[in-house]
Amino acid sequence: MAFLEVRDLTVAYGAIQGVRGVTFAVEQGQIVSLIGSNGAGKTTTLRTLSGLLRPVSGEVWLDGTPLHRLPAHEILAHGVAHSPEGRRLFARMTVEENLRLGAYTRRDEAGVVADLDRIYDLFPVLGQRRRAKAGLFSGGEQQMLAIGRALMSRPRLLMLDEPSMGLSPIMTQKIFDTVRDLRAEGTTVLLVEQNALAALALSDRAYVIDLGRTTLSGTGAELLADPRVQAAYLGEG
Ligand code: ATP
Repeated sequence: MAFLEVRDLTVAYGAIQGVRGVTFAVEQGQIVSLIGSNGAGKTTTLRTLSGLLRPVSGEVWLDGTPLHRLPAHEILAHGVAHSPEGRRLFARMTVEENLRLGAYTRRDEAGVVADLDRIYDLFPVLGQRRRAKAGLFSGGEQQMLAIGRALMSRPRLLMLDEPSMGLSPIMTQKIFDTVRDLRAEGTTVLLVEQNALAALALSDRAYVIDLGRTTLSGTGAELLADPRVQAAYLGEG
């Protein structure tokens, strides 16, 4: 069994089917991307994995533990952290206060302080302005803060929803370089992106989600070379 296994997930919003059969696997230490058009079901999938939505059917297993019936706080305790679409920071709170929210379940203050330092090493701009209000930062810096907050729970699986949204190409590259660094440190990353080109270039493996279903999968390089992916998601063909 893979580190993360998602099997035939279906999720509904009342009568609307958000996800209709999503199946994928993530090996430990890999970056795996879910790509697909607007409304394909990527965000719904991540929200279900973190327990914010309940699946109608299907299973989610992390390292041999079933997560699909657990509430969100228990899923977090099992090591799944989620940096949500749109970042969802607290604009009037400082950088450090936002980061500490990511560690709210932890009681090891020395470990929390060590992890704050680690985030400030990873993103020096946050360290230099740790007492500034989050709302004063640029979009890219806020994305760093959202990723930093998710890392504060010391996740085994880090899920990032559209980290490149609204960012310049240079800032997008910087965020993706950081995701690569996190993999080098052993963090497993599940990435949702509309920027398919950048996501596939970074990914060990990727899955295409179309109309709520996983339709294609392969290594990042295989999907980059796939004419169907080029035509539908890379603006070529
Ligand atoms: P995006 O990148 O735009 O977020 P996505 O691939 O993440 O796209 P989802 O947001 O998961 O797609 O949406 C999947 C489907 O579920 C879409 O048909 C969408 O309209 C529907 N949906 C999403 N959120 C809700 C909601 N709160 N209520 C009703 N339907 C929803």
